[in-house]
Amino acid sequence: MHEVALSNQLAGVVRRAAGGRRVTGVHLKIGALRQVVPETLRWAWGFVIDGTDLADAELEVEWIPLVIECANGHVTEVTGQLDLTCPECPAKTTIVGGEEFTVVDIEVA
Ligand SMILES: [Zn+2]
Repeated sequence: MHEVALSNQLAGVVRRAAGGRRVTGVHLKIGALRQVVPETLRWAWGFVIDGTDLADAELEVEWIPLVIECANGHVTEVTGQLDLTCPECPAKTTIVGGEEFTVVDIEVA
């Protein structure tokens, strides 16, 4: 369950950014390739911050889909089966979205 490890890492980042202020919210971007399960993350975050200085920090997550773009400029959102080939042509693709694990901002009291 890597959500606990991610939450621990995240708590460290948030704590440094907050510099002792009380944190009431954390806004994150998480890409589909991170394979984070929303319910599990919510549980893991609650577990990690329980009884700590971050206990009031509400998680708000923006889920970013997996998006690929091929050399010919076709942009495709990949849903379901993990298939990184361009559906429109045989050109090589690169991943342009879905790898994020980013703290967008934190709210402090
Ligand atoms: Zn293409």
